[in-house]
Amino acid sequence: MSAKILDGAALAARLRGQYRLRAEALAARGRRPGLAVIIVGDNPASRVYVRNKVRACEEAGFASRLIELPAATTQADLLGRLDELNADPAVHGILTQLPLPAHIDANRVIEAIAPAKDVDGFHVASAGALMTGLPGFAPCTPAGVMEILKDAGIDPAGLHAVVIGRSNIVGKPMAMLLLQAGATVTICHSRTPDLGAITRQADILVAAVGRVKLVTATMVKPGACVIDVGMNRDAAGKLCGDVDFAAVREVAGSITPVPGGVGPMTIAMLLANTLKAAETP
Ligand code: NAD
Repeated sequence: MSAKILDGAALAARLRGQYRLRAEALAARGRRPGLAVIIVGDNPASRVYVRNKVRACEEAGFASRLIELPAATTQADLLGRLDELNADPAVHGILTQLPLPAHIDANRVIEAIAPAKDVDGFHVASAGALMTGLPGFAPCTPAGVMEILKDAGIDPAGLHAVVIGRSNIVGKPMAMLLLQAGATVTICHSRTPDLGAITRQADILVAAVGRVKLVTATMVKPGACVIDVGMNRDAAGKLCGDVDFAAVREVAGSITPVPGGVGPMTIAMLLANTLKAAETP
C-alpha cells in the first residue's frame, strides 16, 4: 500500500493564513511584526532563499527589512549593523543568511544577535534553551517537522525516532525536539556503521543528510513515518531529498515529498518565530 503523503506546502499555506491574522491583530495595536534579513555577498542560492523569506513576510502582513551588503563587508561593519537592529524596537526578528564570506566568523555573527530576536534559533542561548526545555526559539526546519507530525496526528511519545544527521541547524535540534515530545531518539551520522540496521527500527525516520537516495526501501520499517529534510539535485538537475521516494512510499505509512514537504514549513516557522518574538512583551 502506498504511504500517505504529508503535504508540507498545504500545511504551511494554512499556517501562514493564521499568522497573517495574528500579525494584523498585533499591527492594530501598533506592533506589526518585523523581520530583518541580512545577506552578505551575492551567492545566488542565498539570494533566492532570502527573497523567498522576505516575500513570505510581506504576504503574511509582516514588515520586512532586507539589508544587502557587499561581499567585502568587514566583520566589524556587520556586527555594527546587528547592534543597530538589536536596538531597533520595530525589528522583532533578525537573521543573517548563511553561509557568510570566509573572512567573517559566522559563530561570532550568530552570537551577536540578541537571543530575544534570534528567530533562526542558531544562537548558543537558543540551543541551550532547547536543550534544557526553557522558552526560546527552536531552529525553523526541525520545528517545521514537529508541526508536520502534529498535523498528521503522529504523537512521538513512546515511539522510536531515528534522526540521520547531527548538524547544529537540523539534526541535533531535531533530536532534542523529538526527545522533548517523548520519543526514544537515536542519532545517526557519517560515522554510524550499518545505518540500515538502525533505521529499520524507526517508527519516525528523519533524514537530514544531503545525499540523493541515501534512504532506500529496505532501510524503512513497514508503516513508519519518513520525513525527508534533504535538499539535493539529482543527475537530471531535479530537486530531490535524501529518500528514494518512489520506492520508500511503498513501504512507509506516511512520507514527506521533496519539494513540497519540509521546505515550505521552514519558512512558515520563521514567520511563527518572528510572530512569537513580536507577541512577547
Ligand atoms: P550538514 O552537511 O551540516 O550535515 C549533514 C549530516 O549528515 C552530518 O551530520 C553528517 O554526519 C551526516 N552524514 C553525512 N553522510 C552520511 C551518511 N552517509 N550516513 C549517515 N549520515 C551522514 O547538513 P545540514 O545543514 O544538516 O542539511 C542536511 C540536508 O538538509 C541538506 O540536504 C540540506 O540542504 C537540507 N536542508 C533542508 C532544509 C529545508 O528547509 N528543507 C533546511 C536545512 C537543510
